Amino acid sequence: MEMFDLLAQRARVTPERPALEDLDSGERYSYRQLNERAARLAAAAREHWGLREGDRLAYLGHSRAEFFAMLFGCAKAGLILVPLNWRLAVPELEVLMDDCEPGALIFGGEFAEAAATLARRRGPLTAVALDGAGDGQRDYCADLAATEPDPGPHPEKDPDTPWYLLYTSGTTGRPKGVIQTFRMMLANHLNIGLAVNLTGDDVLLNVLPLFHTAGINLYSSALFLVGGCVLVARAFDPDQSLQVLENRATIFFGVPAVYQALLDHPSFDGERLKGVRSWGCGGAPLSLPVAQRYAEQGIRVRTGMGMTETGPTVFLLDEELVIDKAGSVGRPQLLTEVRIVDRDGRDLPDGEAGELLVRGPNITPGYWGRPDATAEAIRDGWLRSGDVARRDADGCYYIVDRWKDMYISGGENVYPAEVEKVLERHPAIAEVAVVGMPDGRWGEVGKAYCGLHPDVEAPDRDQLRAFCREYLAGYKVPRAFQWVDALPRNALGKVTKQELRDDAARR
Ligand code: ATP
Repeated sequence: MEMFDLLAQRARVTPERPALEDLDSGERYSYRQLNERAARLAAAAREHWGLREGDRLAYLGHSRAEFFAMLFGCAKAGLILVPLNWRLAVPELEVLMDDCEPGALIFGGEFAEAAATLARRRGPLTAVALDGAGDGQRDYCADLAATEPDPGPHPEKDPDTPWYLLYTSGTTGRPKGVIQTFRMMLANHLNIGLAVNLTGDDVLLNVLPLFHTAGINLYSSALFLVGGCVLVARAFDPDQSLQVLENRATIFFGVPAVYQALLDHPSFDGERLKGVRSWGCGGAPLSLPVAQRYAEQGIRVRTGMGMTETGPTVFLLDEELVIDKAGSVGRPQLLTEVRIVDRDGRDLPDGEAGELLVRGPNITPGYWGRPDATAEAIRDGWLRSGDVARRDADGCYYIVDRWKDMYISGGENVYPAEVEKVLERHPAIAEVAVVGMPDGRWGEVGKAYCGLHPDVEAPDRDQLRAFCREYLAGYKVPRAFQWVDALPRNALGKVTKQELRDDAARR
């Protein structure tokens, strides 16, 4: 199967249907307009920004409807979009830029300073301003306006051609770009689109950041294929979200921290949210009391589970099972196979917990420029999730633990290795281990156990946080620090993190 231009096809089928709306700027696009905008971007990237097929185009900015014109414009031009996590500190962004070497960087005015620093340190890089260009920068809107839309038809592509890259930090602390392809998008569409029964009449409120697979694919990309409408919020704002959920949206997807914040809002009232026919939640475990409180308000939140590497949908809980199978992430979806294996790779029977492996057309072909990491993660087509799961007799799955060293804070994954690398640079710290500890608002927050060099004074905790913040996004900075004489280690010298996790959870 070769890939043709899906957005152009959709625009032929339903040209005047609303495709997108930016809730903050008020900009709206029909499918015809979105397709034309994407075609202009494809042409401008070639004519004004010097990009050629296969080049990377980075985006640093808050969520905007325009993002989807970039995404589909890249598909038309054969470019690879790299949506950058705007929460990252500049040194973290530099690592990503060094890895994917983009030819151009589009940035929102809110990140003008960071973009200027990145462009200065990295040459040659065309800086393209969305909100008014400075010296030596291109003006996004002017360039698109001055360009005839690339009419296509575009050469058909192998469905495994990289379309965009999403970075995850990984357990070694070295970021990896997870390649996202057309095949993955189609597979996700069939997995989630069929499970939620997406139709052209659906309206999605999208509050998740667009540098994550959830923001792009749950359910935006799947909804575009059926001709529905996506409302893009610049960032999650409970006031705005409740208003849109009461008045316009028919489907919604959030991470647990979003569900918690909506519930805590003084004007939350399940009665007024009846227009939303489907509620999805994933990215981290949804706590049972929160799920229960939604159920009491007549809202059945369907939990699911996925990964950046799996496009993302793997599991989704049926609506009828939300109460009976509370705590489960449901069954594997149509185009996804899963196994549960022990540490030697042997399949385990129902009820026993082991590592979750995933296979199917929704799996990434690998990590950008990292055949080593790809070979480590995907063996014989099976992706090793690093998650520990079990299956019950009804075929429902539960995520019970994690073998990979990672915790999730407000929906953002934090890989302790990355935080530890930064703290190890501090002159007072001899050894350090970071773990996640439970937190009512964010699910988990970080706690750092630090062994200090002999004869040094314990550093001030606020200074230590400021030190971390220079190199790390705010959500990765540990909330708590504890001084220890020595870290607990096993006979092989490896830090026994479970002991620290248990300790952090007890306090
Ligand atoms: P996004 O990054 O867009 O939020 P995501 O969380 O699906 O999407 P990743 O950031 O790659 O994707 O994180 C995947 C990991 O998150 C899984 O391997 C698992 O450890 C954890 N996870 C995701 N959903 C759940 C869930 N429902 N319950 C428990 N853990 C989950």
